[in-house]
Amino acid sequence: MKKNNFSSLKDTEERIKYGLLRQIKEEIINLKESPLYKERIKNKVFPVIGEGSHDAKIMFIGEAPGKNEAATGKPFCGAAGQILTELIQSVGLKRDDVYITNIVKDRPPNNRDPLPEEIKMYASFLDRQVEIIKPKIIATLGRYSMAYIMQKFGLQKELKSISQIHGKVFDVSGVKVIPLYHPAVALYQNGLREQMFEDFKVIKNVL
Ligand code: URA
Repeated sequence: MKKNNFSSLKDTEERIKYGLLRQIKEEIINLKESPLYKERIKNKVFPVIGEGSHDAKIMFIGEAPGKNEAATGKPFCGAAGQILTELIQSVGLKRDDVYITNIVKDRPPNNRDPLPEEIKMYASFLDRQVEIIKPKIIATLGRYSMAYIMQKFGLQKELKSISQIHGKVFDVSGVKVIPLYHPAVALYQNGLREQMFEDFKVIKNVL
């Protein structure tokens, strides 16, 4: 049966997005100039590019893959990922509805924080993912992605510590940037868990 123009246009868009995201994946797989590339090869693990809907209205951006993520190539699939899934579901969404990625796509050794030069090396891939997926809401998870995204969107004057601006909505020409605590925080600061669920309600309200 012949498809109507609307669905074929959607198919074409999806194919283009898929191709562009595939290209990013190839480039990261071959990113030999990254110091984390050597670690990846040495440890026989994977880069973590991102996962979810290519039409997602919400993009979650974490920091860098941990052990489980590097072992599987999937973002947020360990203990922090379990909390992220609960937070997403608590506002009636599914992981498949959103897009989840990190700034740094390879695991830093021993789960240390990403270094400025690592963020610099991988940030252009994140910029391209944002450009392709065009989310309406960018929810940053933790202070590194918060700082990067707020600067990228010209929000440097509003940038404060995450304890001051978590759950606030910054509107930049129709894109809503929402800094959130990193889900791992719930693992070591149980007192903040309830607040994190409250902050997620903001996403639902602006969707
Ligand atoms: N922490 C992150 O920031 N990203 C992941 O993918 C997993 C844990």
